[in-house]
Amino acid sequence: MSEHWDKVSEVRDVIESTYRRRTPRSAELHAAAQRYLPGGDTRTITFFDPHPLYTERGQGCRLYDVDGNEYIDFLNNYTSLIHGHAFPPVVEAIARQAALGTAYAACAENQQQLAELIAGRVASVDQIRFCNSGTEATMNAVRAARAFTGRDKLIKMEGGYHGTHDPVEVSVHPALDQAGPASHPNPVPDSPGIPSSVLGDVIVVPFNDREAVGDLIRQRRDEIAAVLVEPVMGVAGAIPAEREYLSYLRQVTAENGVLLICDEVMTFRLDWGGAQAIYEVEPDLTALAKIIGGGLPVGAFGGRREIMSLFSPLEGGMSQSGTFNGNPLTMAAGIAAMGALTRERVAHCNALGDRLADGFRAAFEETEIRGQVTGLGSLFNVHFVAGPVRNYRDAASADKELSRLLHLALLNRGIFAARRGMFNPSTVMAEADVDQAVAAFKDALLELKPCIEKSSPHLLT
Ligand code: PMP
Repeated sequence: MSEHWDKVSEVRDVIESTYRRRTPRSAELHAAAQRYLPGGDTRTITFFDPHPLYTERGQGCRLYDVDGNEYIDFLNNYTSLIHGHAFPPVVEAIARQAALGTAYAACAENQQQLAELIAGRVASVDQIRFCNSGTEATMNAVRAARAFTGRDKLIKMEGGYHGTHDPVEVSVHPALDQAGPASHPNPVPDSPGIPSSVLGDVIVVPFNDREAVGDLIRQRRDEIAAVLVEPVMGVAGAIPAEREYLSYLRQVTAENGVLLICDEVMTFRLDWGGAQAIYEVEPDLTALAKIIGGGLPVGAFGGRREIMSLFSPLEGGMSQSGTFNGNPLTMAAGIAAMGALTRERVAHCNALGDRLADGFRAAFEETEIRGQVTGLGSLFNVHFVAGPVRNYRDAASADKELSRLLHLALLNRGIFAARRGMFNPSTVMAEADVDQAVAAFKDALLELKPCIEKSSPHLLT
């Protein structure tokens, strides 16, 4: 045991000291930032030990940090930069619009242009409203569902992330000792400051479990406004819904007058018409963000005309305010990005994702380390677990320290990915970029291997 821990700390020391040696300027900037930003940080996910990375610029699929290191970017601002950095059509569109003004308290034609581009691709979306983040998108979609049904309760998946408003920041990363029974999880607030009163209106169910959600909806249909679900759970570790699960959700919600909200904030990149086109499921409402703003802050929600007309000043009159809703700069960038996202480019990006995932699976086998690669097309995640990953609890049993060290070991090799092991290619990548990442991944696994105990379930032999 102690020999093993000596090995772990030896590997950890080498990986962390290599990172420190490569990034002294990032360390300096982080130290200085602590004066005015708590912990030197303003976005929880960008912080990591021993210090976060400071980027200087991005170009195509490459990122450059303030110490001059180059990285291939497999994170793309958490899936939002589908065409990588500084994509020329987006840069030109932003420059053109910026010269005409960046915000007006008035309507602009490019709002309907982007709305048409999206509604034209997503069969279930008749009408859309814009907002400024995925958080606002799911918040407004949930509110619309509550207003439409006259009911308050929301069903969400254990491990599902939908932004930071109170009812959805519940049971995103619950500690397993507080999470309750697997088939009837407790709603666990993900942050201090979420009032306990909120928990009464949130019902948490296990992902990919038809029986659990079906029974619940049938028993409590009169209280439930909507089920909120991602076709592929992103933050939980790129865990795809099983085909039958999503179609069952559609069926059981429709039969019981409950709305189905698909959160496609991340998964919209997976198909020209969003992941709902892959699954052939038409939700009542869809939440969007990330790629539809061409890299600028954005959110949108849309769906059946009957529901969306609640927001029409000519009909329902429900308020949906926002100083930057439908911001012309964002609309211009979004139109350029979505216009360039042809079916061919989506297919290219998904093929790169498949190549990368297959390469990672082969690397696990060749290094005799048991790991799982889950996901779909251009969105996937590496898990240090031995068995299949179908839901939050399967993924939560992973070895977190190994994931943390893998992230640093990849940075040390010029590969930029998510701390939790999520990867997503962009349309501007080539197979050679992917192959470079696979080689780096295998090399990083070999560096980590001494950390993994012989008796551990993570080691194949
Ligand atoms: N829904 C999903 C599925 C997401 O992945 C995210 C962000 N990662 C959000 C909602 C929230 O989006 P935003 O960060 O733009 O508020």
